[in-house]
Amino acid sequence: MEISDVRGYALSSPIDPAQDRPFCGGTRRLHKRDVVLVVVETKDGVRGVSTAGASSSAMREYFEGDSQGTFADVVNGDVADALEGERIDRIADAHDRIADAGLPGRLRTEAVSAIDVALYDIRGRELGAPVYELLADEYGSDPTTEIPLYASAGMYMEPEGYVEQAATIEDLGFVGYKYRPGIGPDGDRRTVELLAETLDEAEVMLDVHTWWKIRDAYDEDTVRELVEHAAECGAYWIEEPVAPDDYDGYRSLAETGAPLAGGESEESAAGLVELGRTGAVEYLQGDVRHHEGYTGCREAVEFCRGRDVEFVPHNFGTWLGLAANAHLVAAAPEVGLLEYPVFENDPALDSESDPGMYQFDLAFDIIEGEPAVENGVLTLSDDPGLGVEVDLDIVERYPFVEGPWTEFHYDD
Ligand SMILES: [Mg+2]
Repeated sequence: MEISDVRGYALSSPIDPAQDRPFCGGTRRLHKRDVVLVVVETKDGVRGVSTAGASSSAMREYFEGDSQGTFADVVNGDVADALEGERIDRIADAHDRIADAGLPGRLRTEAVSAIDVALYDIRGRELGAPVYELLADEYGSDPTTEIPLYASAGMYMEPEGYVEQAATIEDLGFVGYKYRPGIGPDGDRRTVELLAETLDEAEVMLDVHTWWKIRDAYDEDTVRELVEHAAECGAYWIEEPVAPDDYDGYRSLAETGAPLAGGESEESAAGLVELGRTGAVEYLQGDVRHHEGYTGCREAVEFCRGRDVEFVPHNFGTWLGLAANAHLVAAAPEVGLLEYPVFENDPALDSESDPGMYQFDLAFDIIEGEPAVENGVLTLSDDPGLGVEVDLDIVERYPFVEGPWTEFHYDD
């Protein structure tokens, strides 16, 4: 394929009015969610799409002052310069071209990730084949197009609020309910106990985002006790219980026997493998949007093969991102579960009460139509490429809004 055009669009999806979520020691305000849409075109007029953003660890974005606008500039500048006019035969060659641009670590892997996914979309369209078939050839697997989902929702609510949400998620048929605790050690204990009592079939996952360590209330001993408690209550996993690079912390908590998950915050596929090598996580959460696309994630998926660690993609963000990670799950033989983020008024879910986390309209509007989600299972079509269409009208409808997407305000 000969690449003629590479564009990045920074978009914002307002949370209007802004929402305040009280957590232990402060209040978190939510203003918007940002997404970078990446569009690649070939000389023959075939278009591939992907996204970055709205997905990496909220803590990292907040504390490192990430700006999705900056990433779109990088795509339109260095990445476009590296690829436009180039002929790409092997998709991995595009990784090398981007590496030559000399971007700093994480910007490079974000760029590589977005381009890798978009080029697979193009390759699939050129061949008239879904991306999962291209990947299944690489894995030597028989793809499966029915993908079990767990729902990712609750954040900073009263224990009863989580329970109500979880009951709706269970009724919708999802494999599990993942939530963000952090309302204080007593409230967090009560939440997981109530969830264990209430849910029959659905698993419970805690996405701790290391936020427990923000305030003194969550010192090391308390974190350890809470992790053990959650495990005793039957939690399926406890995700990011310590800072992403605190491998000793992961190892220490793993000694309790609690099932730990992590990986989304790793900056590269090699970082995912390194975390896997600690032996401390039972679930390794790579993401094609962050870990060098399908090409990078295959390294991590194959690392897990035959080891006591399962690759379960991280997937938080839009339906375009859902499609991208779903093709990996469809093709990779040992990967069989996918995160489904639930936002307010999700048109793909049919439920009387709304289990959505917050408003994120662009998550749905970024593609035409809806994913086929039924009884907690996503079914992929055999349409070519990623199997979804993006109407570029969304670029006008969701203009970028400067400023942080979320702010933490502390008491005292
Ligand atoms: Mg997470």
